[in-house]
Amino acid sequence: MSAQGTREPIGVIGTGYVGLVTAAGFAALGSDVFCVDIDAEKIRGLEEGRIPIWEPGLAELIAEHRERLHFSTELAPALEHARLRFVAVGTPPTYSGDADLSAVHAVVEAMPASDRHALVMKSTVPVGTGEAIERVFAAQGKGFRYVSCPEFLKEGSAVKDFLEPDRVVIGDAGDWAGDAVEELYAPLDAPVVRTDVKSAEMVKLASNAFLATKISFINEIANVCEETGADVVEVARGMGLDDRIGPKFLQAGIGFGGSCFPKDVTALKQLAGNSGYHFQLLNSVIEVNELQKRRVISKIQKHLGSLVGKEIALLGLAFKPNTDDMREASSLVLSSRLQGAGARVRAYDPVAEDEARKLMRGVEFADSAADAVAGADAVILVTEWPEFRELDLVAVAGAMRGRLLVDGRNFFDPQAVRAAGLAYEAIGRPSLNGEG
Ligand code: NAD
Repeated sequence: MSAQGTREPIGVIGTGYVGLVTAAGFAALGSDVFCVDIDAEKIRGLEEGRIPIWEPGLAELIAEHRERLHFSTELAPALEHARLRFVAVGTPPTYSGDADLSAVHAVVEAMPASDRHALVMKSTVPVGTGEAIERVFAAQGKGFRYVSCPEFLKEGSAVKDFLEPDRVVIGDAGDWAGDAVEELYAPLDAPVVRTDVKSAEMVKLASNAFLATKISFINEIANVCEETGADVVEVARGMGLDDRIGPKFLQAGIGFGGSCFPKDVTALKQLAGNSGYHFQLLNSVIEVNELQKRRVISKIQKHLGSLVGKEIALLGLAFKPNTDDMREASSLVLSSRLQGAGARVRAYDPVAEDEARKLMRGVEFADSAADAVAGADAVILVTEWPEFRELDLVAVAGAMRGRLLVDGRNFFDPQAVRAAGLAYEAIGRPSLNGEG
């Protein structure tokens, strides 16, 4: 996509998943985009055309609009030409579960005084952050406008999500800054929710908490299906056709991960607690998710008994397909629990190995799914990468030492697994013993 004419130049501070996609997206719409990051290595790489993350279509979009993208580690000169400064720095959880806003505060501190500029918050922040930042600006006499513009993109389809958003949420005081952000998004023709800053901040947290609740809900239904003999895939199909419920986020599995859901759910819980409200439902959402990651271990023990000395292959490591993001991935819990129980873990992921190596200990990394499963006593499908659809299950069964396939994402056809001679354990579906 390319836009005609001159569009408002913007600054983007933080060139991670959100910042880089936002920058590339607005460059595609015709803006000059001045990107700043404190990570000098990342900026050097971007200048030389190296894209630090694996995200479908992003490298191509950046290459196509390279002449409008400017990269720097220096805030002031880079942002000289942009009155709208989008902030997309990380807001990871602290030990308490509150959002760590130190990177946001560092950006706020570094902003030069100006009443012609606006800070547009893309990072996910607690409700009240905008108000607190406006107080800081006022105390420092900086006169900045503040706009909350939370980001809803999903890793794995981030470029598409930027270009075809379900909605654009803009929280502001109703002046030129919000109008300018709305104008930037206008070519995307998406519904715009123009509201106050606090409500915009809450839309983001509430949306993620709702989606996480839906996942924990269907995971609990899956666990009851296991007790009662129902099949959660059939149950979800029947539920999802009710348009008050809808089919999305009704896939039972081994829990949600990633850089957003776990942290945002916990941050909302803490935010509520800090304001004196006990958000009981979210406690359960978090607890169900933690237990869900661990239930796989007992499924394996049911077949193999003690895991001491057993070889377990993990297929997929990223927190979901089409990304190399390993933050809070279920594979992290699984691999350490398996090793804790005495098993040896071999793993294969099509793109996340480099990230996984930074976070996993004691795991042997395989170059292919075939290498990972060779000699394994059990195989666990952790991430439903499309390439695993092509797996020759008969060959997998032939290469393994044992006979157990645990389908952590209800991804395989149970009868095909059974026909290949493998025992099949899934999430909320009847167990099957292999034929032959
Ligand atoms: P990320 O960790 O991938 O990227 C953050 C970037 O900010 C890094 O490159 C880091 O070097 C840079 N940075 C940190 N401090 C800086 C500073 N003072 N000045 C300039 N750059 C600085 O994070 P992300 O996944 O892109 O997430 C960014 C924000 O967007 C978070 O608040 C997150 O919750 C939110 N969000 C993320 C997603 C997602 O899917 N990743 C989706 C929606 C919203």
